[in-house]
Amino acid sequence: MKAVIVEEIGKAVLKEMPLADPGFEEVKVRIAYCGVGAFDPFIITGEIALPLPWRLGYQASGIIEELGPGALARGLKVGDRVALDQYRYCGSCYNCMHDRETFCERRDYPYGYLDQMMAEYIVVHQRQAWKLPDSISLEEATLTENIGACLPAMDLAPPKMGDSILVIGSGTCGSIIVQLAKLQGAKDLTVVEPVSFKRDLALKLGAKHVIDPKNQDWVAEALKISPRGFDRVIEASGYSEMLPQCIDLVAQCGKIVLFGVYPDNPKLDYDVHKIWFKEASIHGVFGQSNLFPRAVDMLESLDLKSMMDGPTFPLEDFMKAIEAHKTGQYARVLVKCT
Ligand SMILES: [Zn+2]
Repeated sequence: MKAVIVEEIGKAVLKEMPLADPGFEEVKVRIAYCGVGAFDPFIITGEIALPLPWRLGYQASGIIEELGPGALARGLKVGDRVALDQYRYCGSCYNCMHDRETFCERRDYPYGYLDQMMAEYIVVHQRQAWKLPDSISLEEATLTENIGACLPAMDLAPPKMGDSILVIGSGTCGSIIVQLAKLQGAKDLTVVEPVSFKRDLALKLGAKHVIDPKNQDWVAEALKISPRGFDRVIEASGYSEMLPQCIDLVAQCGKIVLFGVYPDNPKLDYDVHKIWFKEASIHGVFGQSNLFPRAVDMLESLDLKSMMDGPTFPLEDFMKAIEAHKTGQYARVLVKCT
């Protein structure tokens, strides 16, 4: 079977790889679609450094083709349409036993900590395969990982109903965060986004206000909407130059959520006194494995169809998909793996 491998920095190739039979509690999945995730381009460029060779892809859906003899706990069967959790966690270490499977301490368990899925097939543990509702397409199901990643943006700094919320960046995850914030009863839900159609999409998905940071004084515009600042400022753009303004825009006793992926590894020059005076707090958000079941439960509560706006490329054209994602012009770019 073929899989996308980053062999060296700047060089990703589609390569024939061996595929093992499913082990006792494992299932073999024919991968249908894999979304291009925020990390993928930066893994190729080396801006996010991972041990090479590295297999690419972590937002995938597929169809079960074979089950190991012990893969019985979840009621999975051949032909089931599933979303795939990338985390092959051990389930037994301290973090796994405390609902923090994303931070599993056994990174070598048993064949590696993460499964990568921009490939024709994958063999995963049964707990990594989640049966989909009939109403969710295999294309939409690639967003399950994103939804799980976005849930902590609400969970770690839970807003009260009526809190004002500012979302900076409305890409794939920003578009999901907007919907989650709307469901949480956000007031003055405002999105800062430079791409025109993404601002339109944000309004469609529940934002009340949108700001163009390229052509507007975005901080001043945001303070016109909520003069006392925002109870929650969720930075989902991944552009580190947006970070200092988060402190200016957070309300007294508000919370800043750092959600974006920052390949430039910024060293922040925060005005500590502003944080102190406001009693503001800052939460980092990473990972989602223990939230995958809730992400599956949320699939039918979100408008995923409106997010499927980008092109789909065959597996052999995966680099075209990466390039299309990098344009920032789409909420979702897909690779059709089989
Ligand atoms: Zn573990």
